[in-house]
Amino acid sequence: MKKKLIAGNWKMNGSLASNEVLLHAVLDGMAQRPPACDVAVAAPAPYLAQVQALTAGSPLAVAAQDVSAHEAGAYTGEVSAAMLKEFSVRYVLVGHSERRQYHHETDALVAIKAQRALAAGITPIVCLGETMQEREAGLTEAVVKRQLAAVIHLNGHCISEIVVAYEPVWAIGTGLTATPEQAQEVHAVLRSQLAAATEHAGRIRLLYGGSMNAANAAALLAQPDIDGGLIGGASLKAPDFLQIIASAK
Ligand code: 13P
Repeated sequence: MKKKLIAGNWKMNGSLASNEVLLHAVLDGMAQRPPACDVAVAAPAPYLAQVQALTAGSPLAVAAQDVSAHEAGAYTGEVSAAMLKEFSVRYVLVGHSERRQYHHETDALVAIKAQRALAAGITPIVCLGETMQEREAGLTEAVVKRQLAAVIHLNGHCISEIVVAYEPVWAIGTGLTATPEQAQEVHAVLRSQLAAATEHAGRIRLLYGGSMNAANAAALLAQPDIDGGLIGGASLKAPDFLQIIASAK
């Protein structure tokens, strides 16, 4: 059976000092109560070396929050997949809604980023989800299918190596969580879309993200097609993050 994946997304938070405190607390908690799931934290790029050093030899995997669509060269400010790989990065988020919204990332760009990650041996966590406006217009299914189709189309046979994170935009950082039923409904749509593309759809992990916390995690993670969580705010508090990890059986 596939293990669930709980990934923290620190976003643009932290400092050398606070990261160290947080990581020590998370690592201590994981040592006392070994998780039944895989666990990762996505740190801002300048802190990847620190996270790599502090987590070396532990079951806590290093993740990055973005990767360049380019391989190398004159792309000021960009970080390549090969560079991430040097810092033991195991997963990288691509297409987070904050990047789609504030950096105008398109479905096509997100698909290329996923491809770059796969080529470097890094698992892309492809983030997708609808806005409230789209949900209210009855477009949820069409939007998430379009977003996933771009990645399936470009990555073809590698598709079974990705992780997908369904993050309804209206639930991110708002305290509004999708109900377990709402999330499961979308996850089932994504699973059947993947099944049409690969016989390995059952082993692809589909994470839910959007105000997941210590109180609501267990109910979400109990849904048949929810294979983990992508956690923003609650991943910055060790007790909350550990509680979510413990909920992932
Ligand atoms: P919150 O858990 O803070 O809502 O953030 C979710 C998210 O965007 C994770 O990538």
